[in-house]
This record gives sequence, structure tokens and C-alpha cells, in this order.
Amino acid sequence: MKRFFAPLETNPAETRASVAPATVTKLVNLGMEVLVQSGAGLKSDYSDADYTAAGAKIVPDAASGYSQADIVARVRKPEAADLEMVKPGTLHLSFLDPFNEKALIDDLAQRKISAISLEMIPRSTLAQKMDALSSQANLAGYAAVMMASDRMRKILPMMMTPSGTISPARFFIIGVGVAGLQAIATAKRLGARVEAFDTRPVVEEQVKSLGAKFVKVDLGDTGQTDQGYAKELTPEQLEKQRLEMAKACARADVVITTAKLFGRKAPLILNADVLKQMQPGSMIIDFAVESGGNVEGSKVGEEVVTENGVRVIGPENLEGYYPKDATLMLASNFYNLIEHFWNEESKDFEYRMDDEILQGCLITKDGQIVHEKFKA
Ligand code: NAD
Repeated sequence: MKRFFAPLETNPAETRASVAPATVTKLVNLGMEVLVQSGAGLKSDYSDADYTAAGAKIVPDAASGYSQADIVARVRKPEAADLEMVKPGTLHLSFLDPFNEKALIDDLAQRKISAISLEMIPRSTLAQKMDALSSQANLAGYAAVMMASDRMRKILPMMMTPSGTISPARFFIIGVGVAGLQAIATAKRLGARVEAFDTRPVVEEQVKSLGAKFVKVDLGDTGQTDQGYAKELTPEQLEKQRLEMAKACARADVVITTAKLFGRKAPLILNADVLKQMQPGSMIIDFAVESGGNVEGSKVGEEVVTENGVRVIGPENLEGYYPKDATLMLASNFYNLIEHFWNEESKDFEYRMDDEILQGCLITKDGQIVHEKFKA
């Protein structure tokens, strides 16, 4: 019988787990034994007893899980010390940040570990149920608005009362991918007035359909990749964007930046000049802070206040802000991936190398780097 193992996340900032009780039962029903390291779900409100009741076996430490596992699923990329414990031939599923982790990929290959990178799962309709980038970005978009509303000194909706009228808060969302769309929808539901911008022109319709206003900037040719990701702007285009963004930022109570470039450093969009033009007390949530930052001076895990009183927040692990639901979604993504490649007869993961999804996300196998993008 094949064994699945979910270790306790080693990074203290990580709140999520790779398995939820609901997916334990589903994995067991596929014909696997499920091992969960004691305490793995504590930060997301899943106790060892919950996992046991769902059919898992609790192991006391990482070493005892890794030594038995055929499939390992974890949230963050593994450290070298973790890999010491992984057996050759194990299927290892996690975020890997493969564009920036050459040494880790070499290490995985040398150890004959088959590594799947969650970031590389294709953005296709068939793969949607395994798309962990989307499931987590969606929750992070919601969390960004909740974090802002919790820290603001003003309410979001308009209120007309005998004591006076309160105007709605103004939100400006820069970058309208999965997180940005959820941020728009959430801010609108709470009654804010919302504007948004993205370099991909196709986004305008989506912004309007959520009842928000699209800020138009003529940047010339921008476009997107075949996976739907934004292309990098030229320095001239970025400068033009900055000038236009400054006007929208100056009228906003809250700016949420989610602009990212897949596999590369996030573009710097709001520099010190733009911040100087914003109102005192206004707030920026830089969701891209962990991949380089969209805002000059933003710091991971900190709130930095500028000289003119603009509050720049660089949230750490916004995807795990609501860990109970984030774990549930992520665990489902892992399960759906395994189930898609599960061979009912051999009761094992089947490496169908001609499958588009596997070609997209399998990085190493049998001692080799097998992904075209990382071979060179
Ligand atoms: P992302 O996290 O890579 O980037 C977030 C947003 O930032 C993107 O919309 C991008 O266009 C934008 N951006 C980049 N540079 C910018 C700049 N200088 N100024 C303003 N905005 C900038 O994106 P994501 O959320 O991962 O989504 C990427 C794409 O994948 C989208 O087109 C999305 O609709 C698509 N998608 C498709 C599926 C599917 O078909 N199954 C699933 C999920 C996402």
C-alpha cells in the first residue's frame, strides 16, 4: 500500500498545512495510507484527533513520516535538511519557486526525488481544480481587503444618518489577476468605491462586470503570455504607468497592489514620488512584497509610515491569513492532482509523461531535470 505523508511546516511564518481531514478520507478511499506529522494542522484549527478520526495515522516527527512515505505533500519548498530524510523515488509535491531555486532543483534531481512544483501547474480549465496559485491568491485577495478594513480609521460603506453623511471609502487595486479580482469583489460587497488597473487590456471587462471603474492608461503594446501572465513593461511604459497611477492613488483611501510577473521580480510601480502625493492616513497593502514589492520602501511583515503619513503594509503570507480555509483549498488541490494521475489497478500515482498537466509541473524524475524550462 502506498503511503502519503504530510509533514509539519518548518517555516514559522507558515500557517497552512498540506492536508485537511476531508482530504485524508478521500486519499484513504483511493487506497493509500495517510501519515500526518503530529501538530501539522494546529495553526489551521485541525487537531491530530481530527486527522485520526478521518482515517490518518499520526507520526511523532518528520523523520518517521519521510522514511515511510511514497508521496510527500508540503506547502513551502523543502530545506536541504528535509531532503536528507526523503527516500529516492518519492513523489514530492509543494511550491518550489523553481525559477529562483536552481540549487534546490539540482539537489532534488540528484536525490532521485520526483518533484512537482505547484506554481507550474498549467492555467487550463482541466487543471483548475489543482491550481493552488489560484486557490491561495483568491483567499489572499479577500484577506487584503479585510486587513485594510480592520486597520483603517474610516468605514467602507456610505452611511446617511441623522448625524451626518459618511462617504464611502475609495479603494484602488493595481494588478487584476486572481487576487485583484477577489479584492475588487470584496471591497465592492463592503460598500467601497473601487477603481482598478492592469496592464493586460482583457481585464477591463472583468473589472467593469464587478461594478468597479477601470483606470485607463495608454501604454501602447502590453499583451500577455500564452498562459495569461503579464509581460514585463519597458522602463518608459513603467514611468508612464507611474504618472497615471499617482493620480488614482492620490484619491484613494486604500491602494492594494497585486502586480506580479510570473517567475520574476515584481515591478516597482509606486515610488517615493507617488507616495508623496497620497493623503495622510491613506494605506497601501503591497501584496507583491514577498516577490520584490510593487511599492518603494515596503517591508515584509511590517507597516512603514512615510513622512507624509502614508501607511505602507507589506503582509507576510497573506495566502495563509485565514489558514483554516486556505488549508482546505490547498489540500483539495493536492488531492485532485493525485487523483487525476491515480491508477486504480496498481493503486499508485501513474507518471503519464504525455499528459499536458504533468509536462507542465513535473520538474525532476529518476535523477534528471525533466522540465524543458529548467533543463538548460
Ligand atoms: P499574477 O499573480 O502573475 O499577476 C497579478 C496581476 O498583475 C496580473 O493580472 C498581471 O497582469 C498584473 N500585472 C503585472 N504587471 C503589472 C503592472 N506593471 N501594472 C499592473 N498590473 C500588472 O497573475 P495571476 O493572478 O496568477 O493570473 C495570471 C493569469 O492567469 C490571469 O490572466 C488569469 O486570469 C489567468 N488564470 C487562468 C486560469 C484558468 O484558466 N484556469 C486560472 C487562474 C488564472
